[in-house]
Amino acid sequence: MKVKDVKVHVLKVPLPEPIQFSWEPLPHQDYTFSLIELEGENGVKGYSAIELGSTYKAFINTYVRPLLINLQIDLELIPDRFLQIGSWLIQRTGALEVAIWDLIAKSNQLPLYKMLGGKRKKVKVYASTGRLMDVKETIDLINDYYSKGIDIVKIRFRRNSIKDDLALLREIRKTFGDSIRVAVDANQAWTFTPPYWDRMTALKVAKELEQYDVEWLEEPLYREDIEGYRWLRERSNIKISGGELEYDLSRFKAFVDSKALDIVQADAVYSNGIRECRVIASLAESHNLEFLPHAWDPGMGWVANLHLSASLPESLTKYIETPLDPLWWFNDVLFAITKNKIIVEDGYAILPEDAGLGLEVSDEAIKKYEVE
Ligand SMILES: [Mg+2]
Repeated sequence: MKVKDVKVHVLKVPLPEPIQFSWEPLPHQDYTFSLIELEGENGVKGYSAIELGSTYKAFINTYVRPLLINLQIDLELIPDRFLQIGSWLIQRTGALEVAIWDLIAKSNQLPLYKMLGGKRKKVKVYASTGRLMDVKETIDLINDYYSKGIDIVKIRFRRNSIKDDLALLREIRKTFGDSIRVAVDANQAWTFTPPYWDRMTALKVAKELEQYDVEWLEEPLYREDIEGYRWLRERSNIKISGGELEYDLSRFKAFVDSKALDIVQADAVYSNGIRECRVIASLAESHNLEFLPHAWDPGMGWVANLHLSASLPESLTKYIETPLDPLWWFNDVLFAITKNKIIVEDGYAILPEDAGLGLEVSDEAIKKYEVE
């Protein structure tokens, strides 16, 4: 099948209150992202979405669109070399590749995970928080998760003092005992504001986390410091995870070859797409590592990672990251532009059985939120 057209809609969804995530310097007043719409010559449309806004639209329109129109996509999807176009502009083509999968799976009238050979009807959710909340707010939120059957949560670290980060963890253990599993994310100790962690700080935190039986420590160092990840992993008894902002198989291979990770966290829309992620998952499996995709982007971006997860063995990919902070973020923001939403029931995300990614885009919502 040939590609007839590709469009990018930049959408801005207003938020009921400003939200500041731990990795960002300023609060969000709204949520801006790109919706990719890919039309096949059969008239079927595939969609995808990624958090990047105007720059992504400019990238697709300028560099990708002219190459994509009339390209034959059904057999090999898009050639891997074509995906490398992303590296010119430090943009990723994964989101575009996901729209192609959606189009092809819809044309074959199959849910994407089934087209990928997946059998899992549901994937266990881990609740991903995004804010640096105080103790009470965090405990209240975890109580909400627990009442919905979710018993694994990821909290953010990198408050001004590590003592404050650890005090939160201590309170979670005191309140919930072993009934809640906890992972910790430091977001590369990276942002526009301090504190920044060096290797010794990351090691100090990792050693502290051992006593709280934490599931994993995510991105404790800047992503370029592969040697630092290996150094840290050798010295601590806690699983180290990373890779959410990487793209290109060679980068993941470098992490795995360096014995730098226990858990590999490629994201279908941030990497070069689902095909690349499935190769990365096999790379992880062949080294007895885990593969837990990062999943934070709107609608189709998040759901792409759900389908990817459902196509992989449970022993390799136990959970799907699910942005649930604030609680309304998942339904009201992630699925602001779709007619249907993904059901989370008894701690599991249920795979949609409609064709493709299983989400129906609302043209009305696009009109309402489109800014360019
Ligand atoms: Mg992360």
